[in-house]
Amino acid sequence: MAKEHGSLSINSQNIFPIIKKWMYSDHDIFYRELISNACDAITKLKKLSLIGEYEEPDDIEYKVKVEISSKDKTIKIIDNGLGMTSEEVNEYINQIAFSGAEAFLEQYKDKTNDDQIIGHFGLGFYSAFMVANKVTIDTLSYKKDATAVHWECDGGTDYDMSDSDKTSVGTEITLYLNDDSYEFCNEYKAREVLEKYCSFMPVEIFMENVDEEPKTVDIPEEELQEKDVVVKRFTKDAVTEEVEEDGEKKTVEKEPAKKMVTINKRPEALNDIHPLWTKHPNECKKEDYIEFYHRVFKDYKEPLFWIHLNMDYPFNLKGILYFPKINMEYESAEGTIKLYNNQVFVADNIKEVIPEFLLLLKGVIDCPDLPLNVSRSALQNDGFVKKISDYITKKVADKLSGMCKTDRENYEKYWDDINPFIKYGCLKDEKFAEKMNDYIIFKNLDNKYLTLKEALEENKENHENTIFYVTDMQEQSQYINMFKADNIDALILDNRIDQPFIQSLEGKNEGLKFSRVDAAIDDSFKEEVNEDELKDISEKLTDTFKKALNNDKLNVNVTKLKDDNISSMITLSEQDRRMQDMMKMYGMAGMDPS
Ligand code: ADP
Ligand code: MG
Repeated sequence: MAKEHGSLSINSQNIFPIIKKWMYSDHDIFYRELISNACDAITKLKKLSLIGEYEEPDDIEYKVKVEISSKDKTIKIIDNGLGMTSEEVNEYINQIAFSGAEAFLEQYKDKTNDDQIIGHFGLGFYSAFMVANKVTIDTLSYKKDATAVHWECDGGTDYDMSDSDKTSVGTEITLYLNDDSYEFCNEYKAREVLEKYCSFMPVEIFMENVDEEPKTVDIPEEELQEKDVVVKRFTKDAVTEEVEEDGEKKTVEKEPAKKMVTINKRPEALNDIHPLWTKHPNECKKEDYIEFYHRVFKDYKEPLFWIHLNMDYPFNLKGILYFPKINMEYESAEGTIKLYNNQVFVADNIKEVIPEFLLLLKGVIDCPDLPLNVSRSALQNDGFVKKISDYITKKVADKLSGMCKTDRENYEKYWDDINPFIKYGCLKDEKFAEKMNDYIIFKNLDNKYLTLKEALEENKENHENTIFYVTDMQEQSQYINMFKADNIDALILDNRIDQPFIQSLEGKNEGLKFSRVDAAIDDSFKEEVNEDELKDISEKLTDTFKKALNNDKLNVNVTKLKDDNISSMITLSEQDRRMQDMMKMYGMAGMDPS
């Protein structure tokens, strides 16, 4: 092929500044883009081979190699995929700098940084120029009689094409890193980035630091495998020992001589090409789920349980959601939902796609149908994305309600851990709340779990439509004892989320009232006495409290309790206490609710 010099088309004089601006925060995604292209190229060639369009060499091992050199400040991404002819380089690289490039430019050239596309997905081949001064491509197409092509571009808008001396089918891309990007050829940094983006890509990926001598190991010759690369063969001397026998010194052989080989140690693929979520739930064992959880979330506690999502129609969505064990109050619980697109990592915790309350869980979601080339705000208003997120919510509610119905024992066992999550979900998501309505349970004073219905039923004789509750077993023990003595039940609601949660229940259930035990000391606990008897003492106490609290409006009511064991107690109405709590929350402590 004649040497060819040309200019990149489509507004390309604008591309580089825009790429640089848009990608500023995550330069490392060039690794993802180039390696996912390499995987695509291999996947395509495998398909061609399946339909008989390509005859694979017998010893073919499809893989992507990432070669880094700190000495040369280069990164090479090498694949044995389908390669490109010079026409294809022209079409895919020169003419359309990257697929969707025009749309991308259109959408982003005038915008500010705060409406970013999710994880800068699909920026493609040209993302290489975020980190490189110069990029070369050497590629040989699988097509018969194709000639190898060399392409190079120094980040300006001109490129050169000529013949390449590449002899094997596939593509090799070389990045000559710019001054600001040397970190990416550092082995540790490179591993970190590859682990983030490529851990589950569908083709094996190997990394090699070419500055280092290949690592070698010695093994007995009989353990040699076909794939091993032999560096040398040698014989290990026998191991001998001096012993004394009949007063004579003798040498005996403890271990015979052994034939050995030194082999180049094969690096291990750094990715798992069949991640658990791609398998059918029937194929997965409990241990698999737990191992996957440990590995991906680096959380060495056991998850409580999980949901395997597996859907082909009307959209494609696979994933696993884990309910983590939480030790702390829900405020500090923090989950991670990793989003993938065909096994390529997109980003963590995309709240535009995943219902917000689910972000308290840990999990992976792979949804190739998601439109990732659009901005976050567009995603948020996308009907299709809404459907996906509704589906995930429904699946979670189904799992929880199913467990409550058929495995109540475990449901109750997990309840302490999962209830903040469920209540938060009900507060955040009306549909979820509707589905979970009958499966919210409450622990009572006998440590029994009741649904709201059951609790109301149990209390019916005493207080229709009112539920008594305890927030602190110790502080409120006096009241609890009175309740127990009178055979009245109360629920234990000791999580911070319970206050907003019961308020929302009251809002949704006509007539329902929650009353904390210390606000609930009503007539049934009081002894009938002559009002006048207590009038005097009421007035005195009112006086004392007015002075002590410096509050004129105060009024103290004194009543006599049936229970003789209690010398005195102060009660506060539910409403006043809630008001006080709210003020405390907003930092208005000390203000008088009256
Ligand atoms: P996309 O992957 O979204 O199509 P890219 O900019 O990443 O966009 O790549 C543009 C095109 O260049 C690809 O669609 C493909 O045809 C071609 N290409 C890129 N990398 C390779 C490769 N390693 N092997 C073969 N073709 C490639
Ligand atoms: Mg691509």
